[in-house]
Amino acid sequence: MTDQYAVVGNPIGHTKSPLIHGLFAQETQQDMAYTAIEGPLNPQEAFAGTVNAFRAAGGKGMNVTAPFKLKAFAMADERSERAELAGAANALRFEDGRIVAENFDGVGLVRDIEVNLNLPMSGKRVLVLGSGGAVRGALLPFLAARPAELVVANRDVCKAETLAAQVGAPGLLLACGYRDLEAMGCFDLVVNATSASLTGELPPVPPTVFSPVGTAYELVYGKGLTPFLRLARNAGVLGMADGVGMLVEQAAAAFEWWRGVRPRTRAIIDQLTVPLN
Ligand code: NDP
Repeated sequence: MTDQYAVVGNPIGHTKSPLIHGLFAQETQQDMAYTAIEGPLNPQEAFAGTVNAFRAAGGKGMNVTAPFKLKAFAMADERSERAELAGAANALRFEDGRIVAENFDGVGLVRDIEVNLNLPMSGKRVLVLGSGGAVRGALLPFLAARPAELVVANRDVCKAETLAAQVGAPGLLLACGYRDLEAMGCFDLVVNATSASLTGELPPVPPTVFSPVGTAYELVYGKGLTPFLRLARNAGVLGMADGVGMLVEQAAAAFEWWRGVRPRTRAIIDQLTVPLN
């Protein structure tokens, strides 16, 4: 029987996940189907009902996207360390009557940077803007890449500080506000993990953080040159990327977790890439 998977979110019309997983399944010859489900926003407990109905109908696993990542985490019976730190799940696996939660956003981001863009983070100064769900999922994989320094800046400084304290890597991981960045010099890699670009806004980051020989990475994808990437370009940065590679890599990690086989990603990233210029 064909194994059933799905992505659940709201809105969900924009999702590329069925396309990505369909291509993965074709390439690796897996007998599986992957659909998109619009999850209910109200009442509060309705999301769990949607997941349980999919599971009861024989579903093997789900991807979870906004705004349900916290709810998916909360309803799991078992959670990975990455999911625990993020307090959020972007992938679920249903096995032996249990729900297992994972969060592959961070590993997808790190793999895109280190493998696809060929930018090892070891020994580098890395700046991450934002302290929301995506950053929470990314901090452990970032630290595992052994940067010389990892700075997390957020508008709400308390949020960044709480997160850094929770991770507990003093001397290596530093939390600050945007103003503090002016005195910190330039970074080898600057990652915009805020949602500012979704509304065409720019986080208040000083252009001094960019190095012309460094890289600017924008988590939002498919929007071309965002205000953040434009700021980086104006500061002389040549290396720029958006989050399409992260999207495909987190999908590949979930696929491997579910199916035990790792799909290739390069051709799909190329197919989905919207040129930055
Ligand atoms: P959250 O809503 O959890 O967090 C949003 C973050 O953005 C907060 O730190 C918030 O700061 C900050 N922020 C929002 N607007 C501004 C602004 N105008 N200036 C400065 N900071 C701002 O979002 P997520 O962490 O889940 O996602 C962040 C982004 O990453 C989204 O755009 C999402 O689309 C993208 N993403 C991409 C993925 C991919 O596969 N490519 C996967 C996951 C996410 P504060 O706390 O101060 O309010």
